Amino acid sequence: MSREETRDTTILHLPAELFNAVSVGLLILTEEWKVRAWNHRMQEFTGIEEERVVGRDLREFLPEFKKEKYQVLLNIVFTDGAPVILSPQLHRKLYVPAPIYPEAPLQERFFFTTIAPASLEGLPCAVFTVQDVTDLVKRIQLYKEMKDRALVEIERRKRVEEQLLAINKKLERSARTDPLTGLGNRREMEERLDAEIGRALRTGSPFSIIMADIDNFKTFNDTYGHDCGDYILVKLAQLFKQSLRRQDSISRWGGEEFLILLPDTRKEGALVVAEKLRTRVGETPFLFAGKEHNVTLTFGVSTFDETSHTVYEYIKRADQALLVGKASGKNCVRFL
Ligand code: GH3
Ligand code: MG
Ligand code: MG
Repeated sequence: MSREETRDTTILHLPAELFNAVSVGLLILTEEWKVRAWNHRMQEFTGIEEERVVGRDLREFLPEFKKEKYQVLLNIVFTDGAPVILSPQLHRKLYVPAPIYPEAPLQERFFFTTIAPASLEGLPCAVFTVQDVTDLVKRIQLYKEMKDRALVEIERRKRVEEQLLAINKKLERSARTDPLTGLGNRREMEERLDAEIGRALRTGSPFSIIMADIDNFKTFNDTYGHDCGDYILVKLAQLFKQSLRRQDSISRWGGEEFLILLPDTRKEGALVVAEKLRTRVGETPFLFAGKEHNVTLTFGVSTFDETSHTVYEYIKRADQALLVGKASGKNCVRFL
């Protein structure tokens, strides 16, 4: 047998200058996985020398190709004559050489592969182009990480903002609430009254206010202690809340004064409400430290009548009515 006759005809002897000059790895395979050609870039990527791999089964050198799916892919190339693309993420281990080549690159590398059918020197073959896309993949990963981090940060800020809003709301609420009785305080009532007089002046719909002041409250404090006074305030607040309509509002206007706003209510209605409250208080037992206390209040009532244009004038009238009530013996309802 001559030397010519023993020559492996599957091996391609491509012009080396051209084959090695390209910046991608080139690998040409027979249908039986035999390597027909292997350029310098492939050697660079895998550490496997051209002399060793050419003419041999690729799978001996790159064992990942032994997986069934690569046989399926190669069949597509050879049988269907269709090109195949391998993404760098899904085929990460393709170019990791067999353990006989321990000098695997330290850094994980990513390769983008296309496999196209061709016929070279009369023999069908699969042409692999292998592109090192590590930098690109790493950059995409980095952008993804940055994006994820930014999203986390946005979420965090959103949560902080929500917490701040909740705190603000709580502060707003507590700035308008009397801590002892849980009723609205003077500030909250002033806002309601402003809105109410605006509505009354616009539409002519009436409203009334009741100023209620505990009689001889100082005596409770002085005789039975401040806690007894507090107990009476809390109990009265509960009683008033239970006795009024939903649209009415009640506030702790001062130390032992309550201001009640009755929308859509004329004089007669307001007097009925004040009298009802006065009676209810009289019927309610106030038990503190084992002793029943006789609690009464005096009520001053005023009603919107278009003669005044600020709510303070109506409050003043209710106050004056209250003073008249106090002067005439307390525990009564007066109107001005
Ligand atoms: P009058 O019948 O004329 O209204 O007399 P009074 O004693 O009720 O009125 P006065 O204005 O002399 O006293 C009000 C008292 O209310 C004095 C103050 O110590 C007390 N007071 C104000 N706020 C509170 C509170 O939150 N708790 C308690 N326990 N007492 C309070
Ligand atoms: Mg008072
Ligand atoms: Mg009083």
